[in-house]
Amino acid sequence: MDSTTRWVVHKFGGTSVAGADRYRGVAALLRAEPPGPQGVVVSAMSKVTDALLDLVARARRRDESYLPALQALLTRHGDTVDALLPPAARAPLHAVLERDGRDLADVLRGVWLGRSASELTEELVAGYGELWSAQMLCAHLRAEGDDAAWIDAREVLVVHPGDGGPAVDWSESAERLAAWRSANPATRVVITGFVAATPEGVPTTLKRNGSDFSGSIFGALFEASEVVIWTDVDGVLSADPRRVPEAVAVDAMSYDEACELAYFGAKVIHPRTMEPAVARGIPLRIRNTFNPAHRGSVIASAERLGDTPRRPVAGFSTIDGISLVNVEGTGMIGVPGVAQRLFGALREVVVSVVLISQASSEHSICLAVPEAHGARAREAALRAFGPEIAQGAIQSVHLIPGQSVLAAVGDGMAHTPGVAATFFSALAKAGVSVRAIAQGSSERNISAVIERTDSTRALRAVHAGFVLSERVLSVGVLGVGAVGRALLQQLEAQAPVLRERLGLDLRVRAVASSSRMIRGEALTDLSGVPARLSTQGEPLDLGAFEAQVRASHLPHAVIVDCTASDEVAARYASWLDAGVHVVTPNKRAGAGPLARYRALRGAESRGRHFLYEATVGAGLPVIATLRDLVRTGDRVTRVEGVLSGTLSYVFNVWDGARPFSEVVRDARAKGYTEPDPRDDLSGMDVARKLVILAREMGVEIELGDVEVQGLIPEVARGAGSPEDFLTRLAGDDARMAARLAEVRARSKVLRYVGVVDHTGAARVHLAEYPAEHAFARLGATDNIFAFTTARYAERPLVVQGPGAGPEVTAGGVFGDLLRLAGWIAGRGV
Ligand code: ADP
Ligand code: ASP
Ligand code: MG
Repeated sequence: MDSTTRWVVHKFGGTSVAGADRYRGVAALLRAEPPGPQGVVVSAMSKVTDALLDLVARARRRDESYLPALQALLTRHGDTVDALLPPAARAPLHAVLERDGRDLADVLRGVWLGRSASELTEELVAGYGELWSAQMLCAHLRAEGDDAAWIDAREVLVVHPGDGGPAVDWSESAERLAAWRSANPATRVVITGFVAATPEGVPTTLKRNGSDFSGSIFGALFEASEVVIWTDVDGVLSADPRRVPEAVAVDAMSYDEACELAYFGAKVIHPRTMEPAVARGIPLRIRNTFNPAHRGSVIASAERLGDTPRRPVAGFSTIDGISLVNVEGTGMIGVPGVAQRLFGALREVVVSVVLISQASSEHSICLAVPEAHGARAREAALRAFGPEIAQGAIQSVHLIPGQSVLAAVGDGMAHTPGVAATFFSALAKAGVSVRAIAQGSSERNISAVIERTDSTRALRAVHAGFVLSERVLSVGVLGVGAVGRALLQQLEAQAPVLRERLGLDLRVRAVASSSRMIRGEALTDLSGVPARLSTQGEPLDLGAFEAQVRASHLPHAVIVDCTASDEVAARYASWLDAGVHVVTPNKRAGAGPLARYRALRGAESRGRHFLYEATVGAGLPVIATLRDLVRTGDRVTRVEGVLSGTLSYVFNVWDGARPFSEVVRDARAKGYTEPDPRDDLSGMDVARKLVILAREMGVEIELGDVEVQGLIPEVARGAGSPEDFLTRLAGDDARMAARLAEVRARSKVLRYVGVVDHTGAARVHLAEYPAEHAFARLGATDNIFAFTTARYAERPLVVQGPGAGPEVTAGGVFGDLLRLAGWIAGRGV
């Protein structure tokens, strides 16, 4: 070997070489790596090994279609050759395919005739995909000007077949590689994954998914500094992404953790891959062919990883298709060697035991075995304990099929208190019952036997409990009026920033109008959702809406109520009870019956939040300010303010030149009022806000306690349509004009305000303020709030700014969402 520059071995899985473009991509990735000699182990093109084995199966059952299927496979490769290579370089590859095609047809004909295929035949046929793949990549590299060579691993890699799978003959293989190297000095060597030969030269394989193993074997043979396993995900993920879409890539993991995860079914890496790497201390790196910018996951010895930050639980996995053998009997108590006897009996009938768990009472032993071995295992147990059963010392040997083993794996579990508690409470919360529990003696894993039908739910639930708890918030948005729409737009625009900067993942899983809803794992194109409701939505069902938001695999959920509905507000209590937080600009709950309000606020002591900053002053920090004052021990004696953006506008622009009713009409035309302006002029909206503020001050008033002086005159009462109302309102214009003139003569202005003090006296009315007062200098739809407190006794603390409009209101709601995320992550105040 070259002693100055170490080799790096790269292994590309089937998905990384699925077609001509992918081979090109592989070549580009290799060239982009730091300079140095490269071994390149390749799998067969995606699904080719399956297809080859299927040919054998068809021929065996005399299904004539094996021939056209073989032809299709050859054509797929021939087409890839044509798409990948320049015309001059194609002929040799086509010749290879033709020759191999004839050989395969002969072998398969033998299978067809004999209606059977030996294991040797299957091994031979299965390996062709890798032979073709390696030759195609090598030809492509050479056509691009590379001095590449390829190795048929069957000529170098020698393995002894054995019970525990093929065992590498290291010295023989090293010798053969050295001989090959002396004849082939190339420094970019393409190697067939998966295939090998026996000492007699019979072609064999490293068994399904064995190319990863090939990668680390050749890493060892080339004394590589690193083995890079290129696949189609960003690294070793915290769980199988097909079952846990929210899984995240793990930065670093020890060999032990990777072995354990692979043993428990994490398909990303073949379990035996670690062996050669561990023996020589070669780090493995898992990287994504489709996202090479991601640094991937490194797998190395715990010593080498040193202080690299790692989670206590590196990952989760499941093995499905498990049966439980349950041996129960009082006769086992205190009798030594019972488990050993059982193991011995199972070994004899070649049953592999995935997990064993013995209750500390020793009253029962529970074994998890592959479902296919279940009956055999039960019979072996019955035989082994024949005498005890006859004597009644062992009462039963039950076989329970349809189970799964769920495992959490991590080196840090042993030193982190509470891991088991988190694991089991996550399962309990998801309503998954546990049949048996085992903790490996290394304390590197906790496993539980659960019903197969629960396995995905269980996996997602434990995953959420450990990996996601601080980062993912499931969101439901009810109401797609102006505010709901603006909120969806803001969420869409900010989500990437929040994810990037704060690691916060806001996942909108349901959106509903008053009649329809759309649900999904994580809705995208949020601003387009309201428009899609009518075409893609389903009829609204609030129960189903809630269930979608309250997904058991996500740790936290919130419903954002952007309606003005009392009926929706009536549901908050049950949502909070179910653990769903509530954020809203809807005033109905905050100003609703006191008992209900108290219950909602009381949920806070149970860690459920009810947030409603946007109910008063839209996006202005009104409630937050008030809360800060109260919590820091200030005594709020009075809050006075212009609380209605609509009426602020009306009185800010009305200078007497136009009649009052005209100004209201104009505000309505500009969209500043409710569709029916009486909703604003009645003063009830201001009164509700005042109730919310009072309660925040600690004065528990009801809406009925507010003295409301509305702006609907006697002449306009009983009007029909809004238009009719505006016409009748004109009947009061003269009186209003006179009032304004009189006030102005005294250098004062009119403002429609709400005032509440610490005694609970609350009043909404049209008041006069001197021209130099802060309330006299408002613009457009400004709100203003003046807080008089023990600390701000001389001059009140004032908050002023636009207090209406969909954008600022949605901004206030969004702010609450972020506050909530901060709280649940334990970072907020
Ligand atoms: P290749 O063809 O590259 O060998 P595989 O399909 O054998 O790829 O393995 C990669 C796949 O393993 C991923 O696409 C993913 O779906 C699956 N997988 C299962 N568990 C995990 C895990 N814990 N981390 C990453 N991938 C996993
Ligand atoms: N092609 C082989 C298989 O599909 C080996 C591998 O890709 O790892 O099993
Ligand atoms: Mg694989």
